[in-house]
Amino acid sequence: MLGQSVFRDPKAWAISVVIGVTHFAFPNPSPFVASQFDVLLSNFSELLRPLATFAHLNLDKLVWASTNVILLEVSFWSTLLMYYVFDHFQLFQKYKLHSGSPGPQMVRECLYDVLLGHFLVRPVLLYFSMPLFANPGWLLGSNIPNFLTLLKELFICIMIDDTVFYWVHRSLHHPSIYKHIHKQHHAFKQPIALATEYSHPVEDFSNTFATVLGPLLLKSHSVVFYTYTTLKLVQSLDAHSSYNLPFSPFSLLETMDCAPAHDFHHTHNAGNFGGFFIFWDWLCGTDQRYVLHLEKNKTSPAYFNVVKSVSQPL
Ligand SMILES: [Zn+2]
Ligand SMILES: [Zn+2]
Repeated sequence: MLGQSVFRDPKAWAISVVIGVTHFAFPNPSPFVASQFDVLLSNFSELLRPLATFAHLNLDKLVWASTNVILLEVSFWSTLLMYYVFDHFQLFQKYKLHSGSPGPQMVRECLYDVLLGHFLVRPVLLYFSMPLFANPGWLLGSNIPNFLTLLKELFICIMIDDTVFYWVHRSLHHPSIYKHIHKQHHAFKQPIALATEYSHPVEDFSNTFATVLGPLLLKSHSVVFYTYTTLKLVQSLDAHSSYNLPFSPFSLLETMDCAPAHDFHHTHNAGNFGGFFIFWDWLCGTDQRYVLHLEKNKTSPAYFNVVKSVSQPL
């Protein structure tokens, strides 16, 4: 059983101890961190003031959207660069989940899609959606949550995202819908990290909705929002990267197999509709073909961390 695997995994216990000790040592965010956060935002705000005045934009919205865009773009392109270096210098090849790669035309098309989404659609969406997230004190350093609250909110956000993503994604695989929307994302039968967000606008919207629903419901502080959206983006890159790296934070526990599970979803198009923790697939029995696949590949180094018991459909 997956639940039992978590309790048997010594790394899960080690992580729990580290979380407990960290929370005990730093029960509240230090005043220094809080003040630096305020100083950074205030300096950044002054930097953007001329642009806001010139373009008749709201300064607060501009600061919020720009901060998010910078964090997400730095995470996105630096992670892509890491995979490019691994491919180019043939590093960690034994952890590759598949050997094929998409043609240059597909990669070019995907790149245009990514550039449009990242540098036009996302900044505009962030700018205009700011009032939805702007709770009292959400941009104040003194309101930054403590470590345990941050982890708790991240966990709840991931669970909400996993649930929405699983059911929407499973619906998109219905034959009457698939060819109209989700087929675009599955054009990458051999996924690459760049293809993470290569999808139909309707799917883009549903994925974005699944991602932001948690912080919206929790009325999270901007630090939780920044951390969570960055974590989610890097996890998605990991899932499409074709690498199941032993040092990936998304392969940390025996029951976390983001990259192998989603790679199987692309290469076999059979089940595995989940995102981060894959628990809905286990609960609903939509991982049965994947379990057989793992059985066949359990000696491969690329599946070093994968532990699966027999899937039990509801
Ligand atoms: Zn799919
Ligand atoms: Zn995918």
